[in-house]
Amino acid sequence: KFDILAQPPESWLEAAKTFIQQTLCPSGKEPNNQLTQSVIDCVKMIWLTKGENQGFILPLSYSFVSVQTLKTHQHLPCCSHLSWSSNVYQAWVQRAGPNGNALPREELLLLGTLTDLSEDLEQEYRSGNLYVKDNTGILDCELIDLDLSWLGHLFLFPSWSYLPPAKWNSSGKGHLELWGAPVPVFPLTINPGPLTPISVLYPEKASLLLRLRKKHKVSESNLAGKLVRLSALVISQNKGYFILTLGELSPVGSQVSIIVQIPAQMVWHRVLRPGRSYVLTRLRITKTRSHHYYIWTTIPSSDLMLLRPDCVQELELERWFLEADLRPLPPPTLTESQDRMGQEDLVRDSRVLHYSGTVTDVLNESACLYILDGQLILCLAYQQIHDLRRVIRPGVCLELRDVHLLQSVGGRGSRPVLALCLHGTILLRGFSHQKPETLSPFQIHGASLYEQLVWEYQLGLPLYLWATKALEELACKLCPHVLRYHQFLKHSSPGKPSLGLQLLAPFPAVLKTACIRHAHSEILEEPHHCPLQKYAQKQIPYTFPTLFTLAKEGQRRAWATFDPKALLPLPEAAYLTSSQLNRHLGWSWLSVLPSTFQPAQVLLGVLVASSHKGYLQLRDLTASLPCLPLTKNSQPLADPRLIGCLVRAEKFQLVIEREVRSNFPSWKELGMADFIQKKQARVYIQFFLSDALILPVPRPSIDSSDPSCPEESHLGQSRLFLLSHKEALMKRNFCAPSGASSELPDPTLSFHVSGSWLCGTQRKEGSGWGPPEPLGVENKDQKVFLIFLGPSVRWFALLHPGKVYRLVAPGPSQTPVLFKAESSSGTSQRPLELAGCVSCLTIQDEWTLELGRSQDIPDVLEISRALPESSLTHLLSDNFPDSLVSFSAEILSRRICEPPLARRRIQPGNAGTVKACVKLTVALEMADCEFPPHLDIYIEDPHLPPPIGLLPGARVYFSQLEKKISRSNNVYCCFRSSTSMQVLSFPLESTIRSVDPLPHIYLAELLQRGWAPLQATTSCHVVFVFSLQILWVCTYCTSICPQGRCSRQDLTCPAQVAISQASIRLLVEDGTAEATVTCRNHLVAAALGLGPSEWTSVLEYARGPGKVALQFRGPGAQPESPGKIHEPLALFLWTLCTSPSVIRPIMLSFELERRSSDVTPLEPSRLQQFQSGEFPLLTRVNPRLRLVCLSIQEPEHPSSLEAFASSF
Ligand SMILES: [Zn+2]
Ligand SMILES: [Zn+2]
Repeated sequence: KFDILAQPPESWLEAAKTFIQQTLCPSGKEPNNQLTQSVIDCVKMIWLTKGENQGFILPLSYSFVSVQTLKTHQHLPCCSHLSWSSNVYQAWVQRAGPNGNALPREELLLLGTLTDLSEDLEQEYRSGNLYVKDNTGILDCELIDLDLSWLGHLFLFPSWSYLPPAKWNSSGKGHLELWGAPVPVFPLTINPGPLTPISVLYPEKASLLLRLRKKHKVSESNLAGKLVRLSALVISQNKGYFILTLGELSPVGSQVSIIVQIPAQMVWHRVLRPGRSYVLTRLRITKTRSHHYYIWTTIPSSDLMLLRPDCVQELELERWFLEADLRPLPPPTLTESQDRMGQEDLVRDSRVLHYSGTVTDVLNESACLYILDGQLILCLAYQQIHDLRRVIRPGVCLELRDVHLLQSVGGRGSRPVLALCLHGTILLRGFSHQKPETLSPFQIHGASLYEQLVWEYQLGLPLYLWATKALEELACKLCPHVLRYHQFLKHSSPGKPSLGLQLLAPFPAVLKTACIRHAHSEILEEPHHCPLQKYAQKQIPYTFPTLFTLAKEGQRRAWATFDPKALLPLPEAAYLTSSQLNRHLGWSWLSVLPSTFQPAQVLLGVLVASSHKGYLQLRDLTASLPCLPLTKNSQPLADPRLIGCLVRAEKFQLVIEREVRSNFPSWKELGMADFIQKKQARVYIQFFLSDALILPVPRPSIDSSDPSCPEESHLGQSRLFLLSHKEALMKRNFCAPSGASSELPDPTLSFHVSGSWLCGTQRKEGSGWGPPEPLGVENKDQKVFLIFLGPSVRWFALLHPGKVYRLVAPGPSQTPVLFKAESSSGTSQRPLELAGCVSCLTIQDEWTLELGRSQDIPDVLEISRALPESSLTHLLSDNFPDSLVSFSAEILSRRICEPPLARRRIQPGNAGTVKACVKLTVALEMADCEFPPHLDIYIEDPHLPPPIGLLPGARVYFSQLEKKISRSNNVYCCFRSSTSMQVLSFPLESTIRSVDPLPHIYLAELLQRGWAPLQATTSCHVVFVFSLQILWVCTYCTSICPQGRCSRQDLTCPAQVAISQASIRLLVEDGTAEATVTCRNHLVAAALGLGPSEWTSVLEYARGPGKVALQFRGPGAQPESPGKIHEPLALFLWTLCTSPSVIRPIMLSFELERRSSDVTPLEPSRLQQFQSGEFPLLTRVNPRLRLVCLSIQEPEHPSSLEAFASSF
């Protein structure tokens, strides 16, 4: 600073002279000393008004700057205030805010001519913009309060700021913000005003003339009045216009509108201030372009001047003219009630008001959304704000005239919104002290797309706010890694819709147009009508959550909805031992549909195949979620081309699988969370491809220097194969390549498929494939095993039996036949289990797969596309244990259980050491099978956790499960390394499946049918009670608990909790057959006909001994005498079981005890001897059915003998 100050005045003056001559003197003329002197005088005058000039009469620290120098050398925003003291500047910095955002001060002297003529002089195109010009160039500028007399004159600008073009600004132009009034270098000539007063018409008569124009030719007139309204400056088809409205000078009265459309007068828009009074000269009446309105208009020779009462006189109209029609116009009627739409509660009218405030934040610059005074949203999208956009940044003061206020719009929080239509105007009241903020990319890209939303799609404000917010959300999910911002927020052209818009609303019905805008009507029509006039509240069609949010929401819901009491409802839960209880809680699931979110959520992500996990994922920049897509016709996703595409789905299921490890002692503690030891949730997505919009992602624009596109992409070879079987994806041990260390490498995640080649290798020819190479004799065996390991496991989710794939190896073909199988002595890695296999081929990382097109597949081959299924007899017979079976089935239930072969007693205290196992109970899908047999499938390590999609209600194809036969002769299946599965359909959307009423049958029907229903209802009669048992057992070790205490001898059982268990065996018959029925727990009470409180008392009586057991002799035998029974409870139960309150007609719902997968041969009917009086009778008797009770109901007409029980 000091060495600049030390500069001698002479050299400063010399430099000043040179600058003025070069920059300000009219070019090609002699040096103008008068101009130089005037400029220096002017600078001196301003400089000396400043208090602290330190005795210098010249601002020696300041240097002159030309327009060109500013444009080329000033790359940072700056300001210069010649007349400001440092105190003033410091105060000003303070006002800019505490963040040090104030514009830095430079010591520069700027002079130039103010003009509204742009550089392009030939066109004489004037859009009302203002410029500062010198010999070196021209610069856009903004000025708060323009005086028309300033145009064309040379000024010194004592206070200004310069904003260089922002990087993203395509026009590449910076601009000046001129603070305060400029100082003329030469005194301006003062307009003395007209010599004679101007005859003027005030609004009332002017509007009368407008109405009577047909009767009377109206010549040019001068109009005077107070400016009451100023419209926006509208530019259409490169021509601008605006409309101003004058009112009477007194507060109320007529108004008249004047359209200004002469290019040279566009600058008037900057001069006019509502509230001031003006005179406009030489006006004519014209029709608007739309021919709807007659309106006063200016002509090129019209003038605008401030109204000075002494310079005007009112024009007297001729008498007859005045008499013609002086009736006032009918006041504009409010037609709101008529055109109100259907949803009356939701549609509101906005209020129109004036507002002055300061912009405090930028919401989205390209969408013209700002925050005013920290609490209002300002939307300027419904006006074309043109160059004003660059001035609006935090700190700028604005006055909004006739602005709409909308409340509870939604889309961007609850703030009220101010929005300007063309009817209103925005006036600059003060420039910002702050440097422009660094904006995030989504705030600066997409301006033309947002404009389209307003001007082409005609969105109303609530939808516009939502759309801008949703596009921001989408940009945050995808940009910049999946897509570049400019690609995503590209302008939409016909036939080439922008990707942003396609994702936002693929069905344009969402973007329902509010109303078609017509600029003239919007400005002139009374009552006012515009897109902002009426609005629907809270209009948010949907949102686009990030996958991270979705996953978090899934986790939240998993535990918010986890209620052990709801998962284990009474009364069943009361009879469960600790381990049963905890296993029931071990796994549960829920599915969340998008419609349950408020507002609805749309799923969006890029489909990727994980090369670490082998499943499909949806991914955005925040997270990835496993997903399971299906085509409508039960086909899994098999086309690798879909990988990398954008998926947008409004219908999907967010599936949450919960796994809980707990140690609840009994049902009584279910409300206490302390007994939950570990919990985790798995969140994934299921959707149908037909419900989704699939969009390929455009490649990011690549530099031409990118070397990744060599000619090699035109080279390559491929071979078609039919996949017949796929094995499980799991960690496998591999043979080490010969020569490698003898140590066994770690197991590697891998899978293999078997199939057959359909033809020989084909080479790339142009864009297609050449003819297949002929096969040699040694290649007759077309069978092949393909091994996928390492990154190749990404193909796992795409490979499915029955489909034809093309294996493609890119690059030049060095070897003659690339897809040659390795011989068994080959050096390549292969799983140990395949070590002896003849032809294996390891898929290389760079190889790719394509789905075989139908025209590629040789039609000589008969390809069976159906999934292989085992026959029912094969499945349910004991002839083929340990064989591999395949079938489709619906999953009925999924439970955590003990592994089927580890049925040992759990040691108390170490319940967790027994490995868990997942048991699926499925209903087989068999043709011609009315009542499908049920089967259990066990999944154990290393196949845990099971693949996604194994949910109750889902239909699944299981391939090559191992079939086993249990000790109780039931068939069950186990997952093995050979097993693969494929989900065929998702559970129904209503996760609680409607339970069909059970069929009502006769018991004999169960004997006649080959495959009887597993569950049914029958009307029957209880004939006899075989046995009754009530126990109190330890909830941990199930030992008997007399007095409620565990009786375990070694005292190792920690439990102090006992639960009751009960069972009763009945003989029932319905006239067609008889059956033994086992009822357990609370169903015993129903069988005994006891009410809840009576049953509780019975259980409490049994607690003392810990066990009450009654055995009755067979039916037909002499009833046992009750005399031997001394305990009162046993005596009561004995009496009850032989009384008509138990031996009675009932409605029984039951399940067959013998499972459909039971392979024990059926008992044949046998001969039995009966005593009928004195004669023995031999009768063929069917084997007795064995049923398990599901529920007991009293028949429609209950027996009157039931009163017996209640009399006890
Ligand atoms: Zn409006
Ligand atoms: Zn115990």
